Amino acid sequence: MKVIKIDKAQFADGYKALQKVYKLFGPVKEKAFYNFKELVDGRQADLSFQNTRLSPKSIVFPQSEDMFTYTLDEASKDANQLKPVPEKNESRAVIGIRPCDAKAISLVRMNFDTQEYKDPYWLNLFNATTFVGLACDSPCQSCFCTTAGCGPYHEDGLDILLSDQTDHFLAKELTDKGAKLMKAAGWKTKATAGLEDKKKTAESKITAKISTDNLSGADTLALYNANFWEDASFACINCGTCTFVCPTCWCFDIQDEVHAKNGKRMRNWDSCMFPIFTVHTTGHNPRETKLHRVRQRFMHKLKYFVDKYEKGIMCVGCGRCVSQCPVNIDIRKISELMNKQASKNICAVQK
Ligand code: SF4
Ligand code: SF4
Repeated sequence: MKVIKIDKAQFADGYKALQKVYKLFGPVKEKAFYNFKELVDGRQADLSFQNTRLSPKSIVFPQSEDMFTYTLDEASKDANQLKPVPEKNESRAVIGIRPCDAKAISLVRMNFDTQEYKDPYWLNLFNATTFVGLACDSPCQSCFCTTAGCGPYHEDGLDILLSDQTDHFLAKELTDKGAKLMKAAGWKTKATAGLEDKKKTAESKITAKISTDNLSGADTLALYNANFWEDASFACINCGTCTFVCPTCWCFDIQDEVHAKNGKRMRNWDSCMFPIFTVHTTGHNPRETKLHRVRQRFMHKLKYFVDKYEKGIMCVGCGRCVSQCPVNIDIRKISELMNKQASKNICAVQK
């Protein structure tokens, strides 16, 4: 894999060249926070950010997305027919996505791109996008990616990995899509150094941990019925922040919105933390208390997903839910409780 050196003084020129070929997205600061936005009117990605408040998952999975349009006007020949919205497949590139957020997109892919079902909306946007990652040299205190199957220089889900070397970037080309973007930008000076030294230093800065080693293969029912869930869920106000900020949460709801005689069918992010998420049309709610909902979130991320896919946990350790939960519910503490409980069950089964 090629490593290219890009002088920061040349970065803006490459950027301009890219804007002719790609719709670009990148981190920008708005008020006190950074978030990923489409870079229009010559706006550039601000790569001095530490992490964004929301993950960039909305670039491939918009928070609200039109699926079909229709008219109820009987005078129209198309009355009452669902018409698919045109595909969005122009070339796009995300500049500066963090390795954890890119790995999260690979995890979400396991849900939207399966043998049985291929989600056309998610896949069109995913296939049209080139992911240019920016390694984390100053991780946040709440990050724990190195114990969540990821890391500050992790490469899964990326087409290019950039490492900031003060006056220049080193860019590691990881895929053909990445090579195509580098060519379009005109970045081609081969580097003599690699990314390894900075990688080791960055990894050593991450001291927070998630405990998951006993969860695979542990007794699911014993974990489900463990007595810590009541305490763990006590403070939750079911605001849904943890799921909206999470790069690996993929739940959505489908709704119709009608204005006069014209309507559209759209999907919107939803959250397993909302009380009405699982309400049946009969009025019965199988997850009617917050204990049920909090337990579902953690069991899904740390147990059901682990057993179903055998690819680790459904969390990349970005730390957003830890830093943004208004009542300090912390996945690292819950994982510890679950992991301890799981170790008892493994011992019980082995005896
Ligand atoms: S962010 Fe915290 S309070 Fe809000 S739903 Fe999630 S766990 Fe509950
Ligand atoms: S569960 Fe929390 S730490 Fe893990 S990926 Fe989601 S937001 Fe990040």
